[in-house]
Amino acid sequence: MANPHVLVIPFPVQGHVIPLMELAQCLVEHGFIITFVNTEVTHERVLDALADKGLLDDRIRLVAIPDGLESEEERKIPGKLAEAIYRVMPGKLEELIREINASEEEPITCVIADQGLGWALEVAGKMGIRRAAFLTAAAASLVLGFRIPCLIDDGIIDHDGTPIKKQTLQLAPTMPLMNTSDFVWARVANLALQKIIFGAMVQNNRLVKLADWLICNSTYDLEPGAFDLAPEIKPIGPLLASNRLGNSAGHFWMEDSTCLEWLDKQPPGSVIYVAFGSFATFSKPQFEELALGLELTNRPFLWVLRQDTKDGTNATYVEGLQHKTATQGQIVSWAPQQKVLSHPSIACFLSHCGWNSTVESVSNGVPMLCWPYFADQFFNQSYICDIWKVGLGFKRDASGAIAHGEIKNKVDELLGTMTFKERALHLKERLMNNIGEGGSSHENFTNFVDWMKTQKSS
Ligand code: UDP
Repeated sequence: MANPHVLVIPFPVQGHVIPLMELAQCLVEHGFIITFVNTEVTHERVLDALADKGLLDDRIRLVAIPDGLESEEERKIPGKLAEAIYRVMPGKLEELIREINASEEEPITCVIADQGLGWALEVAGKMGIRRAAFLTAAAASLVLGFRIPCLIDDGIIDHDGTPIKKQTLQLAPTMPLMNTSDFVWARVANLALQKIIFGAMVQNNRLVKLADWLICNSTYDLEPGAFDLAPEIKPIGPLLASNRLGNSAGHFWMEDSTCLEWLDKQPPGSVIYVAFGSFATFSKPQFEELALGLELTNRPFLWVLRQDTKDGTNATYVEGLQHKTATQGQIVSWAPQQKVLSHPSIACFLSHCGWNSTVESVSNGVPMLCWPYFADQFFNQSYICDIWKVGLGFKRDASGAIAHGEIKNKVDELLGTMTFKERALHLKERLMNNIGEGGSSHENFTNFVDWMKTQKSS
C-alpha cells in the first residue's frame, strides 16, 4: 500500500508551528507523507531557521499560501491576522488540495488542522476528506471554551463574553483556577475587538466538534479533570523531539547552540533558565528589575532575549549587562529550548508559562518560576503552582511590576529545598509513562495513526 498523505496546517505563530511540526515528524516515522502548510511569511522564516540544521526528512514537504495581509505592521495589529486568514486562506487551502489531488502525487486523505483553524476542518469536510483537530494549548483551555454557553446561562459572562463580575472558577478539582478577567477574549482592551475574538472562538469551538479526532499535546496525568469533562479530547503528548531522538523544527529564529557548551561547564542543577517564548516583551524598568534580580541570586543564568525585544535602549543595557555578568550569565537570542531543559545543569525555568514551555519543563523534571503575560498562561501558572505544585509565582508590586528582591527571594525559595525538584521528577516519571508502551498517550496516538491508515474518506 502507498504511504498515506496527510496535510498539516498550523496557526501561523511560533507556539503552534513547533508542536505541529513535531507531530508531522512523528507521523513520518509511521510511514506518512506530509504536506505542511504555512503562511508565506512563516514559511520563509521556517526555511531560514532550518538552514543551519540540514533539511527536514524529504517526506515532509513545506508549502506556503498567503495570509491575506500586506505588511508586517498589519500583522502586529491584534485581530487583523485572524480576520485576514479567515477571509483568504480557506479558498487558497482548497485550491492547494485540489491541485495536489489532481496531480501524480498520492492524494491527501486526511487534514490535521490547528484547533484554532476551524475553517480548515470545514474545507476538508466540504471536500470529503477526513479531518482531525490538534490543540496546542492545555485541554483545560478548550474545556473552558466548550463551557461558554453554560457560563452565559450561569450569569458569569455576557453574550459578548464580557465577565459580569471578577471571580475565580475551578471547573473540576484537578483543573486550574481561572479568573474571569484572564479569559483570553476578556484581556483585550478594545471592546469591539473582544467581541470579534469571542465570536470567532465560539464559532471555532463549534467547528472543532465536527472533527473526527481532537488530539492535544498534553497527557492524562497532567489534566485528569479536563479529560474527564471532555473525553473527546485525546492527549497524545508530551510531544518532544527527544522522544524520537531527533531535533525540533519549525523555529522562526535560528537556535544558538553555543549555550549548550556553556551549560556543559556549569555545575549540575545550578543554572536558572530564563525565557519568555516568542511574543512577550518587557518595559525597560521591568527588564532592569529582572536583570538585577538574576544578578542578586548569585547563580548562573541563561537568558533568552529575542532580537525583537532588544529595542534601542535595551540594546545598550544588554551590552552592559553582558559585560558585567559575563562570568555569571549567558544571553542568547534564541535557544534550543528543549535541549536546554534536558541539560543536567539546569536548576529551574523562569518562564512566561506558554503551554509548550510548560510541557517541555515538566517533561524534563524542571521546577518553574511563573511570570505569565496573557491568555492561557495564567491558567498554566495555576496548574504549575496550585495543582502540580512544581513551581512558584511572583508577587507584583502596586505598579504591576515584579521587583528584583521578589525575583531573588523566589529563586531562593524554589531552589532552597528539594521539595519542588522531587515533585517535578515524580511528575516527569508519570508523563514518560504516558508515552511509553501501554501509556494512555501512546495508546491514543497509535489508535489515531491506525485510523488514518485504515479509514476510507467520509
Ligand atoms: N523556544 C525555543 N527557543 C527559545 C524560546 C522558545 O525553542 O529560545 C520554543 C519553546 O521550546 C516552545 C516555543 O518556542 O516550543 C514557545 O511556545 P510557548 O507555548 O511556550 O510560548 P509562546 O511563544 O506561544 O508564547
